[in-house]
Amino acid sequence: MDLYLYNTLTKKKEKFEPQEGKQVRMYSCGPTVYKDATIGNMRTNIFQDVLRRVLKYNGYTLKHVMNITDVGHLVSDGDEGEDKMIKSAKEMKKTPLQIAEHYTKLFFDDLEKLNIETPEIVCKATDHIPEMIEYVKKLIENGYAYETSTAIYFDVSKLERYGVLSGIDLQSQKAGARVEVDNEKRNPYDFALWIKAPENHLMKWDSPWGLSYPGWHIECSAMGKKYLGETFDIHTGGIDLIPTHHENEIAQSIGACGKNPARFWMHGEFLLINGGRMGKSLGNAYLIKDIEQRGYEPLAYRLFNYSCSYRVKINFTWEVIEANAKALIKLREGYQKHLNGNEDVSDDIVSEFEEKFHKAINDDLNMPIAMSVVWDVIKYKNKSKKLAELLKKFDTVLALKIDKKEEVDIPKEIIELAEQRSLARQNKDWNESDKIRDDILSKGYEIVDTKDGYEIKKI
Ligand code: AMP
Ligand code: ZN
Repeated sequence: MDLYLYNTLTKKKEKFEPQEGKQVRMYSCGPTVYKDATIGNMRTNIFQDVLRRVLKYNGYTLKHVMNITDVGHLVSDGDEGEDKMIKSAKEMKKTPLQIAEHYTKLFFDDLEKLNIETPEIVCKATDHIPEMIEYVKKLIENGYAYETSTAIYFDVSKLERYGVLSGIDLQSQKAGARVEVDNEKRNPYDFALWIKAPENHLMKWDSPWGLSYPGWHIECSAMGKKYLGETFDIHTGGIDLIPTHHENEIAQSIGACGKNPARFWMHGEFLLINGGRMGKSLGNAYLIKDIEQRGYEPLAYRLFNYSCSYRVKINFTWEVIEANAKALIKLREGYQKHLNGNEDVSDDIVSEFEEKFHKAINDDLNMPIAMSVVWDVIKYKNKSKKLAELLKKFDTVLALKIDKKEEVDIPKEIIELAEQRSLARQNKDWNESDKIRDDILSKGYEIVDTKDGYEIKKI
């Protein structure tokens, strides 16, 4: 079945096939490890993981690279402000390395909780300083970069066109150009490839331009080229990366290799909180940890992400997480019912469901439609192991641990009440039995009578 993906570069859904054979080479801009990753950051990671899983569902193998930015990302995405790592290190009275190690670990813990696969190659910026220096040297050699007293800049006027992803028109921008911090810059959109370190700067390396450190954008170009070659299949990231970081990556790649590094550029939209921006100052920069602390499984958050396309904004509220936590339990119960079922379901019905699901995920990862197929399977009147098997196959994309059995800790008090009810039933004291059942219900549990006795469920 053909796979269609939306390409930010062409602004349309295009048929996807890897450049070479069955392997997809993909690059994702990874975290800057100076602070906790929020559930917003995690939305982007879930989108990328679904993409990975859909590619695998289609029979492809992956060579997926994700970088860890541990140097060079300044407080503004332009070339202004302090390095985010250094700022955080100073605030927390730690070294940048300690900060990086601490937040990298937390980031991967979150990925694990959300059942997000680790990319085949994870690479740190600070481990690739020589590759970045070579890249900058090549840009200077090719006439795309120049040195000032503070930095090496990329000269955007040397490009035939700057702004292929965002559609920015440099001519119309010139009039209202921003106030420059460095008046040696030739054009307002020129950006720093390499930055000369002021005295006492915490992170700096020897280079042909003295003690200095890399700019943020050069990291991805150098690591992408090293692991995936000059061109690869897919480049992903959050939507905020389009106008600066990704334009600059493309500019660097054209300057050094003469081509755009990726054929498909894919971007995940933002998560909103209660309809607005999420931010530390607003007190709503929620973490996966906060979801757990409220008693929800992180996978309920993953399921919530399937309620709309990765290309539209999604609104987070605690009510919606509550609803998704309940839906996750229903999904797993539905799976168990099929697993324990022996009713007849024809192969045609199974293939029809499979085809609908496959078509949905292949339509630019249309998870709302894919989930509607999943629910149709769950609710299918005949309970069959064949459908349980199909759901397990779907779960290679959903990653919701559909076969997980709910472990509910039933309080001792409820167990005792259930035993008393059982005794009342044995004595045919139906009034007493109903009274105890209502009491249990009022405490948030339900007694379901089965042929072997009863089950207690949390409601
Ligand atoms: P930050 O650590 O805030 O720079 O974010 C790292 C990356 O996570 C960003 O470049 C975005 O691609 C992504 N991101 C940040 N905030 C959100 C959000 N609210 N929704 C989705 N993705 C986000
Ligand atoms: Zn990047």
